[in-house]
Amino acid sequence: MLEIAKNVSLLDHNTLGVTAQTYAYSAIDSDGALRDALQYAEQHGLPSLVLGGGSNIVLSDDFPGLVIHMRQRGISASTIDGGVALRVAAGENWDALLRYCLDQGWYGLENLIAIPGSVGAAPVQNIGAYGVELSQCLAWVEGWDRRLGERRRLSAEQCQLAYRDSIFKGALRDQFIITEVGLHLRHRAQANTEYPALRQFLIEHGESPEEVHPRVVAQAVAAIRAAKLPDLHAEPNAGSFFKNPLVSADAATQLLIDFPEMAHWPMPDGQVKLAAAWLVDQCGWKGRRLGPVGVHPKQAIVLVNYQQGRGEDILALADAIIGDVAQRFGVQLAIEPRVY
Ligand code: FAD
Ligand code: NAP
Repeated sequence: MLEIAKNVSLLDHNTLGVTAQTYAYSAIDSDGALRDALQYAEQHGLPSLVLGGGSNIVLSDDFPGLVIHMRQRGISASTIDGGVALRVAAGENWDALLRYCLDQGWYGLENLIAIPGSVGAAPVQNIGAYGVELSQCLAWVEGWDRRLGERRRLSAEQCQLAYRDSIFKGALRDQFIITEVGLHLRHRAQANTEYPALRQFLIEHGESPEEVHPRVVAQAVAAIRAAKLPDLHAEPNAGSFFKNPLVSADAATQLLIDFPEMAHWPMPDGQVKLAAAWLVDQCGWKGRRLGPVGVHPKQAIVLVNYQQGRGEDILALADAIIGDVAQRFGVQLAIEPRVY
């Protein structure tokens, strides 16, 4: 049965620790409850916000609608050639899923260990870290298509996964609610250790990056992250607040004339990826505060809510940074979390 709570605080439902409340809230544990919740929102003329772990959102104010909190659980596995096909419910915790997979001897996603949030949100921005993206193991997603009013499956190709992007941030934004995710993992214990910081960590710890077991890679990534990223409880944040900008090869060449030391990586599609953190750091923002919020002293693109700031404080800081980077480099930074 659908349970709706009114005037619920979202403080514990967003990792930025913004104090905001929602007019209505429902924890969803089945397809039926999801359909009822959507019907309720429609009948009452309410906007809806689909919520997972709240680690990639900014609440700019109180939410005047219905928060649909995806809490469905369940993992099932079947054998495929060389590996395993998994069907995972959207409300499962991403990090816990990866640890479970490692325990079972299923590999491919270990570089994405310790990313906060839910399984259902992972395809939304095609989560990526340490040289691996979800796209490398995603087989399909299933969910409720609000335009068609039916449940349907999208192949990985139909999800249009790209660099921290997907169709769920584009044409299907707010239109498709992911209820299950299909993953294909391998039995073969072959690790991806190309990412420089990971490689260096392994070598420093006496491991050979070419032969290392995926379980050791997971431990290494978890250790690097724990050492580098602020503790969410002590320093509330939403991870990287800005995406690494992609610019044309011509634009990158121009920038490199003025800033030869600028970090940059050519992408397979001919664009060039710049390091948002480098751009922000060059503008002097690393470690600076603006009212109750600020930029982390070690991570220039992690904005921290130090003193119970509101969403507007975070967004004012982001605006100031975006303005400075645009003025100095002519590069437009884009905010990675979804702003509500
Ligand atoms: P939420 O914040 O709840 O939602 C994010 C967006 O997805 C919202 O627009 C929401 O409506 C939508 N959404 C959520 N669930 C569904 C669903 N079932 N169906 C449709 N839409 C849905 N990201 C990376 O890519 N790589 C990293 O290494 C990384 N590291 C991070 C480290 C920290 C400390 C933090 C705080 C964040 C980090 N992130 C990273 C960002 C974030 O963890 C991921 O984007 C994660 O997938 C968000 O999951 P969530 O459940 O918290 O999503
Ligand atoms: P880092 O290792 O200090 O590197 C800084 C940036 O340089 C990263 O954004 C990374 O891009 C880029 N980079 C480094 N080497 C690269 C290479 N060989 N080719 C292409 N790009 C390269 O980064 P970090 O801040 O500690 O984060 C480590 C990893 O975790 C990164 O993959 C990062 O994306 C991920 N992470 C993401 C979030 C989030 O909220 N989205 C939060 C924390 C960490 P990429 O970002 O494209 O990898």
